[in-house]
Amino acid sequence: MDLSHLDKKYFIDAHKYNCPFCKRNHVTYSMIDHFEFNWGDKKICHGYLIKCNSDGCEKVSMHLSFKELRDGYVEYSRQRYNNQFADKIDIDGSLFFSQPTSYFVLDNRIPEKVRELVYEAENSRKSNYLVGASACLRKAIYELLEHEKTIIKNQKTGYADYQASIKSLKEKFPSVASELFDALGHIQEMASDNVHEGSWEAWDSPKLRFIIELTKATLHEMYVVPEERKERLGLLGQMKSAFSNSKSTSSKNEEEKK
Ligand SMILES: [Zn+2]
Repeated sequence: MDLSHLDKKYFIDAHKYNCPFCKRNHVTYSMIDHFEFNWGDKKICHGYLIKCNSDGCEKVSMHLSFKELRDGYVEYSRQRYNNQFADKIDIDGSLFFSQPTSYFVLDNRIPEKVRELVYEAENSRKSNYLVGASACLRKAIYELLEHEKTIIKNQKTGYADYQASIKSLKEKFPSVASELFDALGHIQEMASDNVHEGSWEAWDSPKLRFIIELTKATLHEMYVVPEERKERLGLLGQMKSAFSNSKSTSSKNEEEKK
């Protein structure tokens, strides 16, 4: 069974998470505190302090949500709550901000600057800062183009030609499904001429979410999939040589017996 999708989350369930500090996956954690404050007139924000239970780590992260994520019960006619997240809820999906941001979840084979910008875009979107999120995402994609040295400048304007740059990125990564680059290339506002002036409109939340997911999928295909393939082939090679070694030693033993 492929469980790799579990590593893409902060919280796996009420007991296990992927620690952003020691980067160990599927380790146990404890909720050491919960607090509430008024976000606005009617909105209550819940904060959860989470401590890693790994030896030598024990660091504390903070997570904010507009929902009570713990199970409640009544004791002596007073409402009380368990010191842990409720079972069978989508914890990550209910959080709008985490510190540290969960940027460890994008594979660290992806260039760090690009990763940080994608996470910033993601966090800004979750907090509904759409202009900031749009800006981060555009920056992430330009950073990616720059990292791969595939920026193509428009002869007339001297500015980067977005579509031509994405096309040259696509040619550099022929093993990645071209549909991904085509979709990236078709993002309207990215390609418009005034992108450099900063006079563009922010994307709305659903569109941002789509572009963020598209960017993440493309990055994964570019930097993670080929490396994983290499690792698998390497492992296969090791198994093969181990197998042929054991065969030759056993045949040697056979010969010695004779
Ligand atoms: Zn830890």
